[in-house]
Amino acid sequence: MREQEIDVVSALPESYSEFVERFEENQALPTCDLASGQGLPCPFCAAAHFTTYPIFTHQARELPHPPQFCSECKRIGQFFFENLHVQEGIIHTRFFVLQLSGPAQPKWFTPKIGWVL
Ligand SMILES: [Zn+2]
Repeated sequence: MREQEIDVVSALPESYSEFVERFEENQALPTCDLASGQGLPCPFCAAAHFTTYPIFTHQARELPHPPQFCSECKRIGQFFFENLHVQEGIIHTRFFVLQLSGPAQPKWFTPKIGWVL
């Protein structure tokens, strides 16, 4: 069991390039039904299965998005959609995440994700 614990710890990214590589590996797009949601990795460590988000539908803007806990990096984050303005019939939105609790983000992780205070 100790070997597995070491594997989990060593799987956490130690640089921004490792983070990006892991994030790309752990994204999970459904093959046929985009409305069912896109599997999003942890925004802090890129661990798989952080949350599933119907990002390609209008539903994404209307659903409450509860805080999510990452069992690997022990952080809690929450996604938000914000409607900015409507221009020529197009709703311009901002999709962002905030950290609610857990350890500080590593020094190499920039720009930092905001905190909810
Ligand atoms: Zn994480």
